[in-house]
Amino acid sequence: MQLTHHYATELADTVSPVRPQSLSDISLRMSNDSLIKQFNLPTEWFTQEGLVEQLFAEQGTLGKHAVAQKYGGHQFGQWNPYLGDGRGLLLGEVTNHSGEQFDLHLKGAGQTPYSRHADGRAVLRSTLREYIGSEALHHLGIPSSRSLCLLTSNERVYRELPEPGAMMIRMAPSHLRFGHFEYYFHSKELVILDKLMDYTLTRHFPDCATQTEPHKALLKAITLRTARMVALWQVHGFVHGVMNTDNMSIHGITFDYGPYAFMEQFKSDAVFNHSDHEGRYAFDRQPGIALWNLNALAYAFSRYMSVDEIKDCLTRFEPAFLAIYRQTMLERIGLDNDAEHEACLNQWLSMLAQNPIDYTQSFRWLADAEPEDQTTGLRDHFVDRNAFDGWWQDYRQRRQSCSHSKDAILARNPAVIARTHSLQKAIEAAEQDDFSVAEQLLLALNTPYQSTNASEPFEQAGENNEAVSLSCSS
Ligand code: AMP
Ligand code: MG
Repeated sequence: MQLTHHYATELADTVSPVRPQSLSDISLRMSNDSLIKQFNLPTEWFTQEGLVEQLFAEQGTLGKHAVAQKYGGHQFGQWNPYLGDGRGLLLGEVTNHSGEQFDLHLKGAGQTPYSRHADGRAVLRSTLREYIGSEALHHLGIPSSRSLCLLTSNERVYRELPEPGAMMIRMAPSHLRFGHFEYYFHSKELVILDKLMDYTLTRHFPDCATQTEPHKALLKAITLRTARMVALWQVHGFVHGVMNTDNMSIHGITFDYGPYAFMEQFKSDAVFNHSDHEGRYAFDRQPGIALWNLNALAYAFSRYMSVDEIKDCLTRFEPAFLAIYRQTMLERIGLDNDAEHEACLNQWLSMLAQNPIDYTQSFRWLADAEPEDQTTGLRDHFVDRNAFDGWWQDYRQRRQSCSHSKDAILARNPAVIARTHSLQKAIEAAEQDDFSVAEQLLLALNTPYQSTNASEPFEQAGENNEAVSLSCSS
């Protein structure tokens, strides 16, 4: 099997060829059989020897034409033109049975021209978090990059402390970030910007390419996809942690996992990234930041359309976000998508915010409660029982009038999510060379809406998750 290299050849001005650099005693520890099948990838590539050969040998198909991509980005609000794949390499593209093209991208394979004094490596801790997190979001129905395989090494990589080094291959329709477009706009390399736009339209947004105003259609499409992604983050209590524009995919998929977390106690201003002192990327700021990021991206579109046209695209963000958020949240509590139920939803959320109850489990318990019953055991989780009882009387009537089956409601509420403490257990075992916890967790996360024997060990909240602070170093 051959990979294609459309990006590397058609946008050769924007990449640097770099061969992947191995680590000592590298070993294949996880691979994603369903993706391998879906893309008809040769199974012999995903054996220990096969993968090492394909990635690192002179004639290896996977490593032979690898390139590092150039991009920039707004990091915590500041423009940084010096970014690019500092430790990631685009290996090439593959196409699945439905004709969809996906990139194969290797993370942690050594320095590139964009490494800026950093080592080009990734540690096992963050690699495993990304591997599991992206699969978890995908199976929840939140658009995400995917995880193809994970390799470990006995070589130490230095962060705050020495840690085992690792690599992973991830897949995404492309690795085009907002920062790609921003970079060629701000550096005034407008011929390249034109080429990048044309490439993006033709390869990735063919429906926009054929419209009378293709660039406008493209900005609109990116806006709507981003709105959908962030709405689903908010629905599931997901905090990305580093929404810099270099971590934003133009496909509206969750991308570049770092210090992310799912909230346990519902706290609207939750921050888990310990470098985010100002709370710029707090849970409740994610929608606003997504729009801020779209605005930063839109500068690159100013070459192709007027300010009013740009505004027309960006103003679609808020209604799209709100519509998806409202519909999905009301589905979670078994009510019809009707504005008259919004107050009931908001009251439920404010009760969650005031009580030490797990966000994900609370919805599951609510789905399971019987609306015919005058009272429910769920009330015991709430400190102010009177407030809960008042809400319950209102809610049960609404739910009875909407008549969604219990199974249908449960199917909207995950039993299992990628909780920080479960990830931590998987990491600790993996660092001792035991990937069984990671495999069990992945298995449970494959069918997150079902409570099974496999999911049971991962359903409970951790102790003191609110106090968890995650390092950005990875
Ligand atoms: P991130 O915060 O992971 O999104 O990375 C921001 C930028 O720093 C990107 O350009 C990365 O490629 C680069 N980078 C992060 N970690 C490393 C590393 N260990 N070596 C080289 N570049 C890195
Ligand atoms: Mg990044």
